[in-house]
Amino acid sequence: MTAVSLKTRLQSGKALFSIEFFPPKSDTSAEQLLRTAEALKVYSPDFASITYGAGGSTRSRTLKYARHLSEDCGYAVMPHLTCVGHSREELRGIIAEFREAGLGQIMALRGDPPEGETDFKPHPEGLHHANELVGLIHETFPECTIGVAGYPEMHPEASSPDIDLLNLKRKVDAGGHFVTTQLFFDNTKYFEFVNRTSQAKIEVPVLPGLMCVTSREQILRFCAMCRASIPAELNQRLLAAGDDAAAVEAVGIDWVYHQARELLERGAPGIHLYILNREGPAVKIMEKLKAAGFYKA
Ligand code: FAD
Repeated sequence: MTAVSLKTRLQSGKALFSIEFFPPKSDTSAEQLLRTAEALKVYSPDFASITYGAGGSTRSRTLKYARHLSEDCGYAVMPHLTCVGHSREELRGIIAEFREAGLGQIMALRGDPPEGETDFKPHPEGLHHANELVGLIHETFPECTIGVAGYPEMHPEASSPDIDLLNLKRKVDAGGHFVTTQLFFDNTKYFEFVNRTSQAKIEVPVLPGLMCVTSREQILRFCAMCRASIPAELNQRLLAAGDDAAAVEAVGIDWVYHQARELLERGAPGIHLYILNREGPAVKIMEKLKAAGFYKA
């Protein structure tokens, strides 16, 4: 899919489906990524995004696997890019590399501090916030479709939800075409967020980001980092599943399926699955959604 068609697709009103990969470190995990990409092609994802590691640590791997997913698997790929550790000139160079590789969309992020550091420190010749990166992409690669991050439960560093929303508006006003949300498990958080974005005149699609729980410990860790809440009912069901990995995964799949159904029924522009490079849960969720009449093949 070209950049223009993703923009058109975002405006079409038809539910989007997208998935997120991370760049693998080893040959074995690269095989897993490619297997997953093949398995999910049947659901015709509108795009596949691929994350960018802290401090630019995955610069070449993000590009390498973005190319694989695009050239070998036929995906419309949206590489992520963060401001961490890069000067403005380096960022321009990376944007140019994405453009030359035919990748017509970029997720523009500030990024988290590298491991071991707690505060984000901008590069002396770099950017402070994602809205500046959106501006730089817009300037360097005007036809690019730009995604930005949104936080239904507020970004952990923000001093208030209203200030965080104002900062989201800066990203959209700078040229962001759509928002993908941080993961959440309680749909009311999403619907409240979307209401607040429209009150703030943020008039772009807000794509809900969903993650299937496959380990209670892992999700507690993720949620502590990004401050997403875990509904009591989900927590109880995970506790009841205990150490039985298959039972935990079944709870995770059922939860995301019901989240996705309600989101789509109530007008969300689609769903974005954080798949952690694993095909199993995503295939099961998509099969259930297809059986319920969503995402007809
Ligand atoms: P910003 O929009 O810059 O916001 C960061 C903080 O600064 C917020 O508290 C905001 O309210 C405030 N702020 C924003 N703009 C301004 C301004 N102009 N003036 C003052 N304050 C401001 N991380 C990675 O390292 N790699 C990834 O690939 C990656 N992918 C992600 C994908 C999605 C969909 C999401 C939701 C997050 C992703 N992250 C990723 C995590 C993200 O980098 C962190 O959440 C990071 O802390 C903030 O990034 P941001 O782009 O939202 O930053």
